[in-house]
Amino acid sequence: MSGIVDVVVVGGGPAGVAAAVELRRLGIGRVVLLEREASLGGATRHCGHSPFGMREFGRVYVGAAYGQRLDAEARRAGVDVRTGCSVVTFDAACRLTVTTPTGVETLAARRLLLATGAREMPRSARLLPGDRPVGVVTTGTLQAGLAFHRLMPFRRPVVVGSELVSQSAVLTCLTHGARPVAMLETERHALAPAPFRWFPALAGVPFHAGVDLLDLRGAGRVEAVTFRRADGAIETLDCDGVLLTGRFVPEASLARQSGVALDAGSEGPAIDQHGRTRNPRVFAGGNVLRAIETGGWAFREGRAVGRAVAADLARVVESGAPRAVTCEPPIKLVVPGLLTPGSDEPPAFRHFQLRFARRARGWLSLEIDGREVWAAERSWLPERRVLVPIPPAAANAATVHFRFREHP
Ligand SMILES: Cc1cc2nc3c(=O)[nH]c(=O)nc-3n(C[C@H](O)[C@H](O)[C@H](O)COP(=O)(O)OP(=O)(O)OC[C@H]3O[C@@H](n4cnc5c(N)ncnc54)[C@H](O)[C@@H]3O)c2cc1C
Repeated sequence: MSGIVDVVVVGGGPAGVAAAVELRRLGIGRVVLLEREASLGGATRHCGHSPFGMREFGRVYVGAAYGQRLDAEARRAGVDVRTGCSVVTFDAACRLTVTTPTGVETLAARRLLLATGAREMPRSARLLPGDRPVGVVTTGTLQAGLAFHRLMPFRRPVVVGSELVSQSAVLTCLTHGARPVAMLETERHALAPAPFRWFPALAGVPFHAGVDLLDLRGAGRVEAVTFRRADGAIETLDCDGVLLTGRFVPEASLARQSGVALDAGSEGPAIDQHGRTRNPRVFAGGNVLRAIETGGWAFREGRAVGRAVAADLARVVESGAPRAVTCEPPIKLVVPGLLTPGSDEPPAFRHFQLRFARRARGWLSLEIDGREVWAAERSWLPERRVLVPIPPAAANAATVHFRFREHP
C-alpha cells in the first residue's frame, strides 16, 4: 500500500459500503474500503433471515445474499475493496497501520471514515455471576456459527434479553432444532416493540421480566440458570446453554485507541451534523455511532456521511470549532452530539437521534439558546429511537440542550 488515497473507509458493512459507493459516484478518485473479514456485508452476513435491502435495492435479501449485493455494488462503483485487512490504529493525520494477509502495512488518506459497526455485550461485560462453562454465546456468535460452520451450540438454552434481536434469536433457535426453556429480561418489561414482543409467548417460550440473574452453573457445559423473579421468588431452570442477546455497544476500540473523542452517552465517536468527529479529517457513520439501527438505516446513514466527506474534500472555507449538544437524564444519548457552526454544506443528519436509559413519562423539549423550539410529552421507552428535527438555527447557536421534565 503506498501513496495518499482520497478516502479510506474502515468497515465493509452496509454503512461502509454505502459511503464508499457514494464517494465514487460523486467522483472521488481513490476510495479504499478495508474490511477485516474475508467478505463484505458486516453483521448482515450471518443473518440467515430477511428482510434486508428493500429500500436501498428495491428487493428483499437474506443477510448473506445482501452482503454479496453490497460487494457487487462496491466493485461496480470502482471502490478499491481490500478484505482480510484489519486497521490496528491511525494517527491524527490519517496514517493507518493495517494488518493484511501479507503482513503489516501503512496507508495514508486525506479523509478517514469509520464504519466499524456494533457488537453485543459479552458475558464478561455483563458481570454475570457463577461458573464459566461452555455454552454461553451471543446472538451474533450463534448466527455466525450456524451460517459459516453449521454449528448449533445447544438444544435447550435460556435466552437473556428481549430486544428485537432477542426475538430473532428465539426464531433462529426454533428453526435450527433448539427450544429455548425461557426468555429472561432484567428490565421490568419487554424491550421489543409490539407485535414482536408477543412472539416468545406465541412460540410457547415462557417470558419473565424484571428478573435478577443470580447464578449460572455448569461443570464443563451450562447445566442451570438461577434467577429471582419480579415477585421475589427464586427459580432454577435446567438448560444446556445461555444465549445473551442485545445490549449492543459501538465497536469503537479502533477510534478510542487512535485518539478519536468518544461520546459518553453513545460510547461511539462524537460527531457533528456532517458525521465529522473532533478530528476534522475523520468521519463516522452507521452503528459505530450508537447501538443499534437496522441494516437499511446504517446503509442510508453511511451514504449520507459519504456525501458529507465528498463535500468536505471540496471545501475551501474552514468552519468553526464544534460545540457539544447537552442533555439531561434519563436521556442516554444524542447523535449528533456536536454541531459545527459556519458551515453551508447540507448536513448528513437532519434529525437528532435520542435514546432513553430507562422507561420514563414526561416532557422532552429542545432548547436553543434557552428558548424552547420543540417539545413532546409521552411515555419514553429504553432502546427506542426518538427523532427530533435539527432546526437550521441550531448549528450557529451558543447552546443546544435537551431538557426532560418527568411526571411524578
Ligand atoms: C445478530 C444480529 C441480527 C440482526 N438482524 C437484523 C435484521 O433482521 N434486519 C436488519 O435490518 N438488521 C439486522 N441487524 C442489524 C444490522 O446487521 C446492522 O444494522 C448493520 O449490519 C450495521 O451496519 P454497519 O455497517 O454500521 O456495521 P456492521 O454491519 O457491523 O459492519 C462493520 C464492519 O466493520 C468491520 N470492522 C470493524 N473493525 C474493523 C477494523 N479495525 N478493521 C477493518 N474492519 C473492521 C467488521 O468486520 C464489520 O464487517 C442484526 C444485527 C445482528 C448483530
